[in-house]
Amino acid sequence: MKAAVVSKEKTVSIVDKQLRPLKYGEALVEMEYCGVCHTDLHVKNGDFGDATGITLGHEGVGKVIETGEGVTNIKVGDRVAIPWLYESCGHCEYCTTGRETLCRDVKNAGYTVDGAMAEQAIVAANYVVKVPDNVDPAAATSITCAGVTTYKAVKVSKVRPGQWIGVFGIGGLGNLAVQYAKNVFGAKVIAFDINDDKLAFAREVGADATVNTLNEKPKEKAFEITGGKGLDAVVITAVAKTAFNQAVDVVKAGARVVAVGLPVDKMELDIPRLVLDGIEVVGSLVGTRQDLKEAFQFAAEGKVVPKVTLRKLEEINDIMEEMEQGKFTGRMVIDFTK
Ligand SMILES: [Zn+2]
Ligand SMILES: [Zn+2]
Repeated sequence: MKAAVVSKEKTVSIVDKQLRPLKYGEALVEMEYCGVCHTDLHVKNGDFGDATGITLGHEGVGKVIETGEGVTNIKVGDRVAIPWLYESCGHCEYCTTGRETLCRDVKNAGYTVDGAMAEQAIVAANYVVKVPDNVDPAAATSITCAGVTTYKAVKVSKVRPGQWIGVFGIGGLGNLAVQYAKNVFGAKVIAFDINDDKLAFAREVGADATVNTLNEKPKEKAFEITGGKGLDAVVITAVAKTAFNQAVDVVKAGARVVAVGLPVDKMELDIPRLVLDGIEVVGSLVGTRQDLKEAFQFAAEGKVVPKVTLRKLEEINDIMEEMEQGKFTGRMVIDFTK
């Protein structure tokens, strides 16, 4: 079966991989679609450590075609999602307190274990999440990572209905953050980006206001839009350090700044601003299985509609390059159905 594998040269090779037999608690999934994420780019480039030989992909959606011994939660024919959280230990302080993504013994699909950018994948059955029938399977790939990540981040921001939230970076994640914030949490949303096309897209999916941080002053604009108050919360999905620093400037006292994007960089924090204004800066990493179930439910209700474009597996290196250059809006999704 064909798989998109990280090569020594830090590109992606399409190779023929043979899968081993299933172990206890595992299942085999035949992939229908797999989204391409900015995290795949980091993994490919070795930003988190060398991943040579690993099959990429953690936005997989496909059907179960075989179940190993001891599998009780899914059966052959079920459509399931394969997220970044491939498996956790199940018994540590994080796993037993609803924070399984922080488990120190976590396995990540398409990074520490083979992922979903392949015709077939072996999964830990207990860690896949069923995709509701009325969610389009190609769009479901975006909920599997970008959707659950931004849904969780907006949850972590503690924004309440009617309050102002800012979303920095309107890429594959940001546009979903806008939709969850607006349509699920009932917040008012300002989208921040450097690209006018992406800002137009943000307005299309429900942003109340937009700020181009390249030619407008983010702080002044944010205070102007919110009647001099500043934002109640911010979610940063951008992958540039500048956005992280700007985010702290646009919020009001007592606000929460939630970091989601992963530039390999440091953030500057003005200590008096942090202390005197009681600003909370917090990181948020993907979401738990329960978060993913909830994120799917809102997609099934039509409150969140990911924008996806279908591509061929062979185009993966082109997609990576386009992504690096910020050339498209929404998500590119590998189509395995043809
Ligand atoms: Zn992802
Ligand atoms: Zn654990």
